[in-house]
Amino acid sequence: MPIEVLERAQSELTDWRGSGMSVMEVSHRGKDFVACAADAETRLRRVMGISDDYAVLFIQGGATGQFAAVPMNLTLPGDRISLVNTGQWSTKAKKEAAALGLDVQVVADEAASRYTTTPGPGSFAAAEGSQYLHYTPNETIGGVEFGYVPDVGVPLVADASSTILSRPIDVDRFGLIYAGTQKNMGPAGMAVVIVRRDLIGRARPGTPSIFDYAKMADSDSMLNTPPTFSIYLLGLILDWVENLGGLEAMGTVNKDKSDALYQFIDRSPFYSNPVAPTARSWMNVTFLLARPELDKQFVTEAADAGLANLAGHRSVGGMRASIYNAMPIEGVLTLIDFMDDFAARHG
Ligand SMILES: *Cc1c(COP(=O)(O)O)cnc(C)c1O
Repeated sequence: MPIEVLERAQSELTDWRGSGMSVMEVSHRGKDFVACAADAETRLRRVMGISDDYAVLFIQGGATGQFAAVPMNLTLPGDRISLVNTGQWSTKAKKEAAALGLDVQVVADEAASRYTTTPGPGSFAAAEGSQYLHYTPNETIGGVEFGYVPDVGVPLVADASSTILSRPIDVDRFGLIYAGTQKNMGPAGMAVVIVRRDLIGRARPGTPSIFDYAKMADSDSMLNTPPTFSIYLLGLILDWVENLGGLEAMGTVNKDKSDALYQFIDRSPFYSNPVAPTARSWMNVTFLLARPELDKQFVTEAADAGLANLAGHRSVGGMRASIYNAMPIEGVLTLIDFMDDFAARHG
């Protein structure tokens, strides 16, 4: 979370818009909160360039909820979909789709590279008869990101949880984009779903109402009590993004941040990054120490220096710097100084 957003939320916490109450306490059906939610949606449409051909939905259950909701809304049991497997989040999406009775065709799989790259443009296509193709533009754990939007001939579905709002994106290329909110959009627990309206309205029987895109679109995502505080904070974050110059400006800063870190790692004999240069994530920079026995000490000393959460995901080890939008370039430069010093002492 950007500190400016947290401070604004703090200043409004006990008296939101002169109500004498927190935004958490006002009625979600009251005109102030309805306006707040509408404002968050309008801002998201403006920031991302989302046309009226798309519905924008706020749905509880995070990105994992969407692993199930997407198949329930877009397919019937027995239908075929295509999926690109570039890491752990793709794999989880695949399992959930398969559990819902889908014939999941993995049309590109980077498991053999140990998830250190993405398939190149034009190197894969949707399997015949696929209802859609699902991919993960940024694999958060492996730090692997597509530098392009695939052209696949069927509706493209993207789990953009860890890359949304990090750079400009051409929404019209997608059938559906979903993202858990906790990386670049606020607190955990909610997903933003941007879905082309012609794909809505065919949810399979038995789909829970709160996951049914048509019902959620008809009720402005207020079929039940929505996560009001999350929606409010999303609005504040979008205001922050707009004030900084929108996604063009975010993209420039994020590229500078990740370039600085990758260049340092590539020049250092002590650190390394296994990801192919064309597939390196702007948000999640992974790196290995030349002496893995020092991993624990690295994490501890970094934490003492105010650099938190650097241990890689428990499943892969190594290190990972998640430098989401809220991380300023100064934070990255501080990390590089620390890494340089650590290497000098232990290299
Ligand atoms: C974090 C993340 C998820 C999981 O999000 P939840 O909100 O915890 O369900 C899914 N996909 C990607 C790419 C992520 O980064």
